[in-house]
Formats: sequence, structure tokens, C-alpha cells
Amino acid sequence: MTIQERDKNAVWHPFTQLKTAPLPISIVKGEGAYFYDDKGNRFIDAIASWWVNLHGHCHPYLTIKISEQLQTLEHTLFSGFTHEPAVKLAERLLGRLPDNQSKIFYSDNGSTAVEVALKMAFQYWSNQSISKTKVIAFENGYHGDTFGGMSVGARNAFNLPFSKLLFDVIHIPVPIHGQEKISLNSLNKALEQHDIASFIFEPLVQGAGGMVIYSPQVLDELIYNCRQKNVITIADEVMTGFGRTGKFFASDYLNEKPDIICMSKGLTGGVMPLGATACAQFIYDKFLSDDKLKTFYHGHSYTANPTACSAALASLDLFDNPDTFENINRITESHKRFFLKIKLHKALIDVRQLGTIIAFEIKTDEETNYLNSLAGNISDFFIARGIIIRPLGNVIYILPPYCISNNDLDYIYKTIEDFLNSL
Ligand SMILES: *Cc1c(COP(=O)(O)O)cnc(C)c1O
Repeated sequence: MTIQERDKNAVWHPFTQLKTAPLPISIVKGEGAYFYDDKGNRFIDAIASWWVNLHGHCHPYLTIKISEQLQTLEHTLFSGFTHEPAVKLAERLLGRLPDNQSKIFYSDNGSTAVEVALKMAFQYWSNQSISKTKVIAFENGYHGDTFGGMSVGARNAFNLPFSKLLFDVIHIPVPIHGQEKISLNSLNKALEQHDIASFIFEPLVQGAGGMVIYSPQVLDELIYNCRQKNVITIADEVMTGFGRTGKFFASDYLNEKPDIICMSKGLTGGVMPLGATACAQFIYDKFLSDDKLKTFYHGHSYTANPTACSAALASLDLFDNPDTFENINRITESHKRFFLKIKLHKALIDVRQLGTIIAFEIKTDEETNYLNSLAGNISDFFIARGIIIRPLGNVIYILPPYCISNNDLDYIYKTIEDFLNSL
């Protein structure tokens, strides 16, 4: 049996209609910005393996640091016990995070980092016997696939079977260019209710929603207004963290700093699963009590897994080397040049770019959403040309590992142009 046949017999894949899906490509090796399949074909990983990979696949430094950790302490429980990699990582993350952040809570993926943030915010109020149980979130947002994450995310085809089971959220319009006032007014109206616990948002870029970009100025205003009304602000930096937007965190573009920040995806350089939720001291303080019921009773078996922490530490070492941000800036400049070249293409509705992210929204007759039938054709077109791109409906985007070469970037741009010209 081929690996694909064995796969079909035994495996259930995410986000995939397995009745009609083409056979999956069997990847046998990763190196830098490339994957190799079992037939010897090479692919450029133009989307950093679902936005996680930063420094390239099988980076030798990360590999060595992780294997060293594996030989001393692979895993330990994390309640009543601690270890150097978790402590050091918390210290180093706090060194990189906005100044108001003071504690790190570990979990193991982006959805759990968001669940932790939401639960922290809810319990912050409940520990003070204040009844605040509603959340404000953006329309079109994505915060993961657990029930909390789905509840605060956009209500769409992906979570339709569960719609009755999701908790109450006030969704407000995204403050894209021209819509800032509408968004601010909706927020202010929602803030008139006195039971709002928190406001959660993807800072500056809504990833899964189609790489929708909005300005730091309007987000500053939204956060400021929340603070005036005692509403906790949660920045979901799961996609935007670790250099993606051109600064270390998207929150670094802001003057008003969020109270809670969620991290995952790039946290370990894309090598190991790990989530982290940072919070300000005032939140942590409300969980300190002689009353046991005020404890944050949340945890995961693999909380602060030492091997994952060692990967994150090694990735931060690479950020201490100026090369990493030189690469981020190089990709940013390269994207900007292509943006100017392509933005008026007749097949496009819009081109958006921030830092290492560039997205192309293609004209379509269908209502634009994730299930747009263009998506499958687009993937095939690029796979046939040795490039891995998974469009979000009618939106193609590039979000590459930082080690990608200028040649490969130019080849991807050229292939996108060819694709647009073929429409
Ligand atoms: C991917 C993503 C998540 C969910 O992370 P997982 O590790 O896939 O659970 C949450 N929030 C944002 C902004 C994301 O991009």
C-alpha cells in the first residue's frame, strides 16, 4: 500500500472534506524554506507551514538545542515543580513583551492560549464578585477551534454546527480603512453595557479572516476606550507575534498596551507545539488569596513542556542575532516593491501588506468566503509550480519563513502574476 492509501485508511485530516479531497502529498524532508516529497519534488513553503515556521525547516541550531534538552529533561509536570527552560523563557518573553506584562502562563497551542486569556479575564471579575460575562470581538476574527475560541471568532460555515452552543459575544465591525468610525461607534455602544468582561482582537492583521489589515491608531483608540470603562483588553498575537508584522509583536506598534497577550505559532520557531498567555500584574494579583476558590484552576498535561521551551529559547537566541530582523526587513521591502507593481492588476480587488505578510484579494463572482471554489484551483496551480500556497477563499497570501531567498520570493511573485494573468 502507498502511504496515501494507508493515510486514507487510518487518518482524519483537519479542515478537509475527505470524500472529495485529492490525495495528500507525502512530505519526507524539510530544509530551510523547502519541503521535499517522496517522489523527490521540491516545494517552497510560502506560508511557513500554517504560519508557524520562522527560521526555516530543520534549522541546525534549533535541532541541536532541542536534542540537548531531550537528553537532560524531556518533560515534567508543572504544578508544584518548575524547570530552568520555563523560567528562562518567561523572563526572556517578558523582556520582549510590552512593559505592562508581568506573568507568563503556559499551555500548548494557540487555541489554548486564547482559552486561558478569556478564562483569566472572566475570573478576574468573578474573583471580585463582579458580574461581567460578555466579550466584545471583531467580526471576521479567528481565535482558534475550541469552544471559547469559536465563540469569540467570526460566526461562519466552520462553526455553524455548534452555533447554538457558543457563548454570548458582541461582534463589532473591523476598523479597516474608511470604517474606523463605524467600528468605534459600535464599540462605544457595546461599552455602555455594564457586563463586558473583555475585548479580544487580532492586533493589526486578521489572519484566517483573509489577512485583513487595520491601523494601530484606531486600535489605540479602541483599547483606550475599553480601559476607560474597565474592560480587559486581550491581544491575540498567535499569528502576528515574533516578527511577522515587521516588529517583534504587533502590539509594539501601539501606544495603548493590551492587558493580556496570547502567543503560539512562531513561539518555538515553528518546531514544537507551545502556547503562552502573558498578563499584567493587576490581573495576576486578583488570583492571590487565602480563598482557594480564587485559584486559576486551569492547566494542560504538557504545560510548559521543557523540550518545547528549549525550542522557544533557541528561537529567541536567533532573534538576538541581527540577521533575523535583517531578513524580516528584506522580505518587507521586497513585498512593498511587488505591492506597487501588482496593485492595479485587473484581476484584483485589493492588495494588503504589513511586514512579511502580503495578501492578494482576487475578483470573484461568488460571495467571498473560505469556501470559495477558487481556492482548490489556486492551490493546484501553485503546487504544479513547486510552491505551497493555501488560499483563504479568494485571498492568496505569502507569509514565508524569514530565511527565504530573494530568488524564491521573486519566483513566487512571478507565479502569482502568471496566475492572475491566466484569470
Ligand atoms: C492559528 C490561530 C489561533 C489558533 O491556534 P492553534 O494553535 O491552531 O490552536 C488562534 N488565534 C489566531 C490569531 C490564530 O492565527
